Amino acid sequence: MKCSLLSRPMTCAHDWISRLVLPGDTVVDATAGNGHDTAFLARLVGPGGKVHAFDIQEEALRSARERLREEGLLTDAVCFHLASHSRLAELVRGPVKAIMFNLGYLPGGDRNLITRTDSTLAALEQAVNLTAPNGILSVMCYPGHEGGNTEAAAVEQLLSRLPHHLWRTGKYQLLNTSTPAPFQICAFRLD
Ligand code: SAM
Repeated sequence: MKCSLLSRPMTCAHDWISRLVLPGDTVVDATAGNGHDTAFLARLVGPGGKVHAFDIQEEALRSARERLREEGLLTDAVCFHLASHSRLAELVRGPVKAIMFNLGYLPGGDRNLITRTDSTLAALEQAVNLTAPNGILSVMCYPGHEGGNTEAAAVEQLLSRLPHHLWRTGKYQLLNTSTPAPFQICAFRLD
């Protein structure tokens, strides 16, 4: 996907990830939802790679699987986990080239089934250890819903403490959108 100047944060994350991920790589969608990111990752790694897609809702995984089927991407390369991303280290063998989190609730679904600060932080700590050199960890944060602000601040704090000789971490946010504006945090693990 092309990233025009000052694109939406998610578009930028896709652009950065697509510069790093190669066919055959292992990647993770930590919040599969309706499968947009799972499909994006499956296209990048191809049939010889591995995409691990996590969600706690059967409804989400059904929707994600259907999207991949429609797009001709439902191959053995994609592995769906009906599990919390806090089980990342147990279910995924590293190194992983890209790990994506898109926090919040399933669009069109139950707004109570939302990512939570504790499990998000637990998953992120594991994700940091699984990310390959020259790999990327991206987290789309939504401070606008209840609990979202606390979660977004905790994510920012955790990733801003990564050692700078090993990681480059940045935050990208458009300022003239909804308030408080969603933002993207990306951590790139240096080679
Ligand atoms: N990436 C998705 C897409 O492309 O459509 C959108 C993700 S949606 C904003 C957030 C998803 O995170 C929801 O489907 C929700 O069920 C899921 N979720 C919430 N807590 C989770 C957890 N602990 N582990 C994994 N997924 C979780």
